[in-house]
Formats: sequence, C-alpha cells, structure tokens
Amino acid sequence: MPAVQLNSDVALGVAIPSRNARGRIARLGSVVDTVLASHNYPPVIEQLLAEALTLTALLGSLLKESQGQLTLQAQTEGGAIDLMVCDYLRGELRGYIRHDADLVAELPDHPTLEQLFGKGYLAITFDQPVAAERYQGIVPLEGRNLGEAAQSYFAQSEQIPSLVRLAAEKRDDHWHAGGLLLQHLPEGEEGRERLHTRLDHPDWPHVAILGGSVKAEELTDPTLPLDDLIWRLFHEEDEVRTLESIELKRGCRCDPAYVRSVIARFPEDERAEMVGDDGLIRVDCAFCSSSFSIEPKEVSS
Ligand SMILES: [Zn+2]
Repeated sequence: MPAVQLNSDVALGVAIPSRNARGRIARLGSVVDTVLASHNYPPVIEQLLAEALTLTALLGSLLKESQGQLTLQAQTEGGAIDLMVCDYLRGELRGYIRHDADLVAELPDHPTLEQLFGKGYLAITFDQPVAAERYQGIVPLEGRNLGEAAQSYFAQSEQIPSLVRLAAEKRDDHWHAGGLLLQHLPEGEEGRERLHTRLDHPDWPHVAILGGSVKAEELTDPTLPLDDLIWRLFHEEDEVRTLESIELKRGCRCDPAYVRSVIARFPEDERAEMVGDDGLIRVDCAFCSSSFSIEPKEVSS
C-alpha cells in the first residue's frame, strides 16, 4: 500500500527523462467542496474557483521549498469578477472570488475569461523564504480558460514550453477537479540560467500531443489513480517516472492572533473608526468566511 493514496486531494510529480519533460498532475475532491462550503457562489463561480484551486495546486507543488508559498491573483477591470485570490502553503489551499452577482447571472454557462474578468491580469507569485527568492510573473487573462492563461504565463514569463490542462465537474453534489502540467526542461535546465530556449525541440511536441490527449473525465475521475493515468498517457515512452506526492488540504491561516496583529498595525484613529455599535471590531476572513470579534483594547498600543 502506498503511503499516500493517489486518487484525490493529492499532487504527484512526473518525469519523462528521455524527452526532458517534467510536470505535475493533481486531483482535488473534498478540498474543493470544503473551500466552496464557506461561500455561497453561483455555479459559474464555483466552477472557476475549482479550476483555479487545481491550477494553484499544480503550481504550488512545483515549489522546491517546503515552506514556499504560491499565490494566484487576478486583477480585473470591467468584468463580472473584480478579484480572485488563491494560495498554497505546505499543501494547504484556499481561495475566494469577489464578484458582482447581477453581472454573473447574465453570463453564459461556459463564459470566456474575458466575459468573466473583463480586462484582467493574472499574477502568479512564487515565494521561497529560505532562499529569499520571490518571483512574480503577470499575464493577461486571455484565452478560453485558466489553463490557457497559465500556458501563456510560462511561455511569456519563463520561456518554458508548457502544457496545462484543467477540468472540474460537480457530480452528485460533490466537486471533482483535476489538472495536468507538463514542461519541457532541456538538459541541465534545473537550477541553471537558460542561455537559450529551443521552442522547436522535437521532443516537446511529442510530449504535448500525448499530454494534451488527456480527457476531462480522466482528470476528474477519483476512481482512476493518478499514477495509472500517467501510465495510460505515456506508457510508450522509454521511461516515465512518478516522483514525490503531496497531500492536499484545505487550510486557512486566519487565527485570532493573526487578525489582531493585522488590526494593531492600523493607526489608532483608523482603528477607532472600525469599532461597531456593539463596541467590537468585526473582521471577516474573505477566504473562509470566519468572523472575528476583537475588543479594541486588545489591539491598542
Ligand atoms: Zn480564514
């Protein structure tokens, strides 16, 4: 029996050494259900957040440091959504989407990114505190879905040929989401400056065709273990390896002490304005909808 089950709420590393390709595959089930249970989102927004959390899991599991954090943030103008934030820390995922309910109600069942976000940008931030490395790339939210936007991120910001597939579906009241990320990293690329990148390397189109043949129903099927799915896609390769797996959980970091420390950083006159009729400062966590009531004297300097 493997230590970690590879069916749901898990990310798995993948390598195809003979093609210089590496990547991650992830599937989410109860993590998505738990995140969405804190909100009361319309179906279109639930679908988008399920896909965004899957992308966050794929990108977060690329972090080399166990303490590293990955943040996905969409900044937008003139769309139905004005803010989307997801993050990843130690396998813990959380996220929320701020949107205009009236505009969302007018959207088609499968809206484009432009219909959702208007003129939007996706910022992807890799934060690795031990190496004191912080890297942020920004791409326009264009294309049919978040997977395509993420692909352009890697092509534009990092010059790495990449394939990103995301899928999410609600069946019998439960969400099933899955994603595949593959990248072409020619010899010696890992941890080294790239002198040039060959976007026309013959190995890559081959891997992209095999990876791109993955079906949405395979990505979201919790009865199909991720290692079996990788084998199904790449079994004709000389060698395909699965690497470490990371268990995924829903997690929020909004404990009362943290909320107090944030409030304490505001100047005294601004804190006074936050006090409600009941004499308390009320703070709601946008990620998990927890509500905190804080005594003003607890945070006074
Ligand atoms: Zn929270």
